[in-house]
Amino acid sequence: MSFGTISYWRRQLAEKAISPVELVEQLSAAMEAQNPGLNAYLSWDKESALAQAAAADVTKPLGGIPIAVKDNICIQGEPTRCASKMLADFRSPYDATAVTLLRRAGAIPFGRTNMDEFAMGSAGENSAFGPTANPVNPEHVPGGSSSGSAAAVAGGMAIAALGSDTGGSIRQPASHCGIVGMKPTYGRVSRYGLVAFASSLDQIGPLTQNVEDAALVLNAICGHDAKDSTSAKVPAEDFTSLIGHDIKGKRIGLPKEYLSAGNSPAVAAAVEQSVKALTALGAEVEEISLPHAEAVVAAYYIIACAEASSNLSRFDGVRYGYRAESPNGLDDLYSRSRAGGFGAEVKRRIILGTYVLSSGFYDAYYARAQKVRALVAGDFAKAFSKVDLILGPATPMPAPRLHDTSMSPLQTYLADIYTIPANLAGLPGISIPCPQPGSMPTGVQLLGPHFAESSLISAAYALEQALK
Ligand code: GLN
Repeated sequence: MSFGTISYWRRQLAEKAISPVELVEQLSAAMEAQNPGLNAYLSWDKESALAQAAAADVTKPLGGIPIAVKDNICIQGEPTRCASKMLADFRSPYDATAVTLLRRAGAIPFGRTNMDEFAMGSAGENSAFGPTANPVNPEHVPGGSSSGSAAAVAGGMAIAALGSDTGGSIRQPASHCGIVGMKPTYGRVSRYGLVAFASSLDQIGPLTQNVEDAALVLNAICGHDAKDSTSAKVPAEDFTSLIGHDIKGKRIGLPKEYLSAGNSPAVAAAVEQSVKALTALGAEVEEISLPHAEAVVAAYYIIACAEASSNLSRFDGVRYGYRAESPNGLDDLYSRSRAGGFGAEVKRRIILGTYVLSSGFYDAYYARAQKVRALVAGDFAKAFSKVDLILGPATPMPAPRLHDTSMSPLQTYLADIYTIPANLAGLPGISIPCPQPGSMPTGVQLLGPHFAESSLISAAYALEQALK
């Protein structure tokens, strides 16, 4: 179902086998044909994409390549709705830095992808504009919260896409849809223009058809940005530079806590197959321990909800978005605008976040979660003094069915156990497909030390080739 990779279309454009305008035409035809069944895109501006294509410089690194953008990353003049009724009529007055940088590399931001409302969710079902279906089997969810980005790429409606990852929202849907998803080191990609969910955890990154494409998108969007005070002052790199290098002698840790009996048989088989493949490539896979692994979900949901309750207080019916009609005073305006604009999961998290930050409970929950966060970061620091990279499952199980009522919110939260640690510790992580016969797509994940994206990409590429 692939629409062709970035490298493929770059060659076609360079050889003038196709023009950027024809490429946009071809892609929009695919979008128009497929989107009604999948609901991966919430909107797209074909006229604007065609105008940009007509002016595209194909000699630039992503010259003339359309890239889909999650609905919580601002594109000037286009809807940026975070899949929420709250922002149903909002158009962004400016570009996010990641979008500015895509444009600078010659790419054409094209299409706003569906998501869980305000990036809160794991299935794409929390969108105010309807769920997205998994292109591999539309009766299953595509994962979330970057549900539309993953489904668009896997469904042959996007060459590549941007997503955001606060607790796994790039890596998990990528894994559920059988594509590659990468969360860069916290601070690598500017968060300016990314609508904040949990600012200390959020990071923008690519969802692509293969590892090389992830590196190409990363090359474009990384870099220090004075507009984001948490943006890291690290020099730009060519993340493709180590692709194709052999990984002989690389030490790869396999956390024993990640080999839980709760993993589905397909996921366990994917990890085992990856261990074998890495060993055959000359890497040394050894068992390690991340002793605080079982506390990560609790710590994440306290910290993420606390930050969300604060970040989302700006949606008050006055400054942005949805406003209740004929309010009876200011308090009534606030409460009815927020009650009417936010969906159930967003409300649940605002309430939880407000509770854990309230006086009397702050020390018991929020302060404690921050201590756990430091312990988790410490576990990784210790692990990375022994191994170069860490291998594990991306998710405990493949994509569930749409509207699977057997999972409570708590069970859904628990399934984030393998993706959350990288966000708590600010580490880069990449999930790559490791398909198992008879199963919905399964993925494995590689984690690396801070700013080790190049070696992470190199190992992920080697593993990807070996698993083909
Ligand atoms: N599933 C996680 C959550 O619901 C991750 C969300 C994300 O990364 N944006 O919070």
